Amino acid sequence: MSGQSANIPPTRHTMVLDGQGWVGLLERMGSEVTIVNAARVSFGRLRTEMDDRDEKLLRYLLENRHSSPFEHVVLTFSVHCPLFVRSQWHRHRTWSYNEISRRYTDVDLEFYVPPEVREQAESNRQASVAPQHLDQSAVRAQIAAQNQAALGVYQSLLEQGVCREQARGVLPQNLMTTFWATVDLHNLISFLELRDSPHAQWEIQEYARAIKGLITPEFPRLARILGW
Ligand SMILES: Cc1cc2nc3c(=O)[nH]c(=O)nc-3n(C[C@H](O)[C@H](O)[C@H](O)COP(=O)(O)OP(=O)(O)OC[C@H]3O[C@@H](n4cnc5c(N)ncnc54)[C@H](O)[C@@H]3O)c2cc1C
Repeated sequence: MSGQSANIPPTRHTMVLDGQGWVGLLERMGSEVTIVNAARVSFGRLRTEMDDRDEKLLRYLLENRHSSPFEHVVLTFSVHCPLFVRSQWHRHRTWSYNEISRRYTDVDLEFYVPPEVREQAESNRQASVAPQHLDQSAVRAQIAAQNQAALGVYQSLLEQGVCREQARGVLPQNLMTTFWATVDLHNLISFLELRDSPHAQWEIQEYARAIKGLITPEFPRLARILGW
């Protein structure tokens, strides 16, 4: 089959997780003008460029959660991330997803090794804290060794004739995956509020911050109002 691998970053992308993951902007439909025009459809005066009055309207819409005009802007991202980030991301049901399938392919297997391994937070069972006592090179080597051991079992199972759909069960949560994700701007803003937050896991925060950086040139006034 001709064409390039879906597993490489698109032209406009940002590397995250110390270069192990990335998020890229594949397509965008609509702009800031689309938002203010959608809000003004009711009284029929459309514009072609943003001015300061439009920015005031944009701010009013955001501050008053008048959200439907933002749904006329749609973006598609390509995401390369560990499986556990994928699981958190896919909880956001208002996005549309398509993902590489390990039932079809066993090439390009890569595994995440945290650039810094954090310690368990004592006060919050869901959270982590900056490391104070961990031997970073020892725990990172242990994680990398486990990734490689799992890969070895997986390859051995395939060599013995086990089907890919069952053999993949031995691969760890650190397996990297790639998916396309399409969302309207209203639901993207909600995602970014939830995931670029100290309550979210650092790994998914990285992706949320990268998305803000990627789309700020496309939505400069919105980014300013939201304090990105
Ligand atoms: C810091 C953090 C910690 C989390 N911890 C956990 C956890 O421990 N366990 C866990 O299971 N999840 C956890 N989650 C996931 C969380 O519960 C949500 O599933 C996730 O944030 C998606 O949010 P959402 O439903 O608003 O997004 P979307 O699914 O994109 O939905 C957007 C909005 O659409 C509406 N909507 C969509 N689908 C429905 C529906 N079927 N019925 C009614 N309204 C709907 C809701 O108003 C919703 O807010 C966590 C999320 C965060 C950010």
